Amino acid sequence: MLFAFIVIGVIPLYLFTHILLNSYMDKAVGNKFTQMQNQIIMLSNQMLPTGYLTLADVPEIGAEVNRIADVYQGRIVIVNNNLNIVEDTYGLYDANKYLVSKEVIQCFSGNSSRVHDKENNYLILTQPITHTTEDQKVIVGAIVMNASTKDIQTILSTMEQRAIIFSLALAMFIVIFALYFSGKLTNPLTKVVSSIDHLTEGYMDEEVSIKGYYEIEKISDSFNKMINRMKKIEDTRQEFVSNVSHELKTPITSIKVLADSLLMQEDIPVELYREFLVDITEEIERENKIINDLLSLVKLNKTAGDMNISSININELLEQILKRLRPIAKKQNIEVIYESFRPVIAEVDEVKISLAISNLIENAIKYNTPDGWVRVSLNADHKYLFIKVSDSGIGIPEEVQDLIFERFYRVDKARSRETGGTGLGLAITRNVIQMHRGAIRVYSKEGEGTTFNVRIPLNYIA
Ligand code: ADP
Repeated sequence: MLFAFIVIGVIPLYLFTHILLNSYMDKAVGNKFTQMQNQIIMLSNQMLPTGYLTLADVPEIGAEVNRIADVYQGRIVIVNNNLNIVEDTYGLYDANKYLVSKEVIQCFSGNSSRVHDKENNYLILTQPITHTTEDQKVIVGAIVMNASTKDIQTILSTMEQRAIIFSLALAMFIVIFALYFSGKLTNPLTKVVSSIDHLTEGYMDEEVSIKGYYEIEKISDSFNKMINRMKKIEDTRQEFVSNVSHELKTPITSIKVLADSLLMQEDIPVELYREFLVDITEEIERENKIINDLLSLVKLNKTAGDMNISSININELLEQILKRLRPIAKKQNIEVIYESFRPVIAEVDEVKISLAISNLIENAIKYNTPDGWVRVSLNADHKYLFIKVSDSGIGIPEEVQDLIFERFYRVDKARSRETGGTGLGLAITRNVIQMHRGAIRVYSKEGEGTTFNVRIPLNYIA
């Protein structure tokens, strides 16, 4: 993060300074050339009428040329159209010498040239001297003017120095800023990590409270939610284990009581033996049912990999279930009504779905009133099948409607026991439906009846 801050802060600054200084240099050099060009034009205008170029001795022009050369800290060399050197402010050449260079020759074709010698810090401007008569322009000579760029260089290096000082100050600021903020950003994360480690070591009771910026607080909140969820799961697991032991013990306790009371008495009539043995058999059956339900539940709790999916005709499936359950309903004179709105084929695990729906219908019969009714209806749209199981039974109090899907939960323990309930039926049903990515809802009013609505996707979603 520190590195990123530095890269983001310093590199653009460096590029910006570089571009700024370069464009200043170009602009300053351009300006200087233009100034030099103007000087040369003025000088040409002065010298043309004097015959200076034809080697006449005109001291004022010579002085002016020298003055300009001085001002520009450079050198001026003037040649006439014979390439004869008329003036050299350095005094190295005189009128006997000729100046033949590419730039000077080009001047006589009307082209001036600008050269910036960066190494030696000077500019060379070679410019024709033009004499304009009424109808034509004649090139009568050329001026080669050198000028030092030291003044530009001086300003440039001052600017450079300031830019370096500014960059260093900024870099320092960025480093301090980056150190401060990277610490501020990573410290809470480090705390989260150590909290997770702490939790992994088994200290589940602790909550994480980390104050930082918004996202970190959210992480800490989510983390706490996760811990709470884990605690709940752990609590439920322990509760389940103790419920299981309790539920399994109850029939055994009854069996023991029944057997003990037979053993303690002498000369018991055979009828009493029979009666007690019938009770004992019932308790054994009950124990068996609990164990079977538990096994179903445990199997369902395993991964969805155990699903045995195939295309099933749901209408037929419901009819089979009802055929099996109608005799039971009949015993209490309960009418079972089945309505199907359309043929429904769905990809489901037949055994599991059959178990889930049977549980709902069995409950509708078990928790009904004599002469009541149970209505099962089947419908579907393009995505889901809908099964509705309604009854005219005792209903479920509003406040416990959320609890009935919990394992071993029973609204009325005595009634459930009478009817052979284990409290596991709805837990199994809900598990099966969830394994099919479906949903189950209960609507009930105490004393009036209950409706369970089930929705299952027609195509199995793994
Ligand atoms: P059980 O084996 O006791 O029937 P379930 O898990 O199937 O266990 O149901 C849990 C509890 O929900 C039942 O004990 C009963 O109190 C209540 N219940 C379930 N279905 C109905 C219903 N159709 N009408 C009234 N109460 C119901």
